[in-house]
Amino acid sequence: MRNDIKQILFTEEQIQNRIAELGKQIAADYADKNPLVICVLKGAVLFMADLVKKVDMPLEMDFMAISSYGVSTKSSGVVRILKDLETGLEGRHVLIVEDIVDSGLTLSYLRDTLLRRNAVSVKIVTLFDKPGGRKIEITPDYSGFEVPDEFIVGYGLDYAEKYRNLPYVGILKPDVYS
Ligand code: 5GP
Ligand code: MG
Ligand code: MG
Repeated sequence: MRNDIKQILFTEEQIQNRIAELGKQIAADYADKNPLVICVLKGAVLFMADLVKKVDMPLEMDFMAISSYGVSTKSSGVVRILKDLETGLEGRHVLIVEDIVDSGLTLSYLRDTLLRRNAVSVKIVTLFDKPGGRKIEITPDYSGFEVPDEFIVGYGLDYAEKYRNLPYVGILKPDVYS
């Protein structure tokens, strides 16, 4: 798989170090709130697993799968829930764990959906943020790294369902797409 990667943007060590910092910050902000931490499948699954180990306090986890229609590397903003939460949100502090925010359309939809279920608060932690891709104004409450407006893979992020299991993040060689 390494042969398909043009450039590594974040090494495994850089990712893990940054996650440890985010975990500390989240633990400080959510102390005694028993937050419901929601992993957005599938992209955020590696991040979720590493992050919660660094949030040293009681929390609960749940999982949601959504799909946005459209071509493979851009989101359309039309979002469908493929797997819903098992937990009710009434009175809960919710933290959405995302892999990457690009246009912001997916997260904006998700945040509104969860707020309508009467969560007390809904915040967002994303490992990667691509501010250059925004089509709607949304700022993640916690963000690991800013990335350029390029398509990245690894550490949960896929191209055609592949490369999610890379422990680092990089940019694919152009010939992989063709
Ligand atoms: P948005 O709705 O913010 O445009 O896109 C959100 C989703 O699109 C992300 O959760 C992710 O699944 C996918 N996405 C956006 N940018 C990238 C990228 O650079 N690489 C990969 N693999 N997926 C991306
Ligand atoms: Mg995602
Ligand atoms: Mg994807």
